Amino acid sequence: MSNLSDNNDPVRCQSEGSTQPHLLSLPGRRSVLGAGLTISRLLPQTQLRMIGPWCFLDHIGPVTLGDDQMIDVAPHPHTALQTATWMIEGELLHKDSLGYEQVIRPGQLNLMTAGHGISHSEQSPKDRSTAVHGVQFWIALPAAHKDIAPAFQHIAELPQRHYGAARVTVFVGELDGMRSPATVHSPMVGAELFAETECSLTLTLQPEFEHALMVTAGAASLGTETLAMDALHALGGGRDTLTLSLAANSRLMLIGGTPFAHPVLMWWNFVGHSDAEIRQALHDWEHSERFGTVSAYEKNTRLQAPVLNDGTRLRQ
Ligand code: MN
Repeated sequence: MSNLSDNNDPVRCQSEGSTQPHLLSLPGRRSVLGAGLTISRLLPQTQLRMIGPWCFLDHIGPVTLGDDQMIDVAPHPHTALQTATWMIEGELLHKDSLGYEQVIRPGQLNLMTAGHGISHSEQSPKDRSTAVHGVQFWIALPAAHKDIAPAFQHIAELPQRHYGAARVTVFVGELDGMRSPATVHSPMVGAELFAETECSLTLTLQPEFEHALMVTAGAASLGTETLAMDALHALGGGRDTLTLSLAANSRLMLIGGTPFAHPVLMWWNFVGHSDAEIRQALHDWEHSERFGTVSAYEKNTRLQAPVLNDGTRLRQ
């Protein structure tokens, strides 16, 4: 997806850096995009910019599209990040400047590595469900990998394990001995937790990671705390286990990683490690072939970047 925020200020993103467990619950900001699509933005937030390398998190829907409504996000660029898309209901069609065209369905992963630069579109496929519910994450690339060649991976079969009535699927990184085949560039975990019936779930965590949870369906609690929907629940660091109480048919996303070594800048759809990198990416989107062309996109349009004034100071 594209960052359609009307707040055009650059955001300085730094991970929480916590080494102690805690619970900080921050509500998302819900907004309506085109085609009646509602999203809730859980990261970045004023009080919390990153969880490990995770720098952007949108909860998409749940929404039921009318017969004449289609998701259609025109080609737009990304740099220095990976986008991870996870559907809970419905499908999305990804097309990119490397020539990939891929429908993603629930339980699968689309992982796009922008590195030096890529452009992509996201649409409802022609033969699509009316229900749309999913999550899109951005993962910042560390300095040593920010300019790597762009890449795209679709993974239909991900490592999964049952813990009693709970089912855990690891889509990136590693959790409790399960490792996703997705290519990532810093230590992290991204997993979905699903409860078939009401149950308690205990997971082994890496204490050097900071973690966060979001509830996408049902109801869950951590100790005596109920975890609200459409909120990011930052758990801090230093946890080697996590025990959750889950109602039947609950779904949660668990993300984590080692605190990111350095702050990154986010402006529009770009992650950068300096003011100059962001301005160069903007210049190149408007005046060069750096981001290629999404040849499979039917219309001769693409997203225009917002204005970045010369005087706006992007701080790192
Ligand atoms: Mn995008």
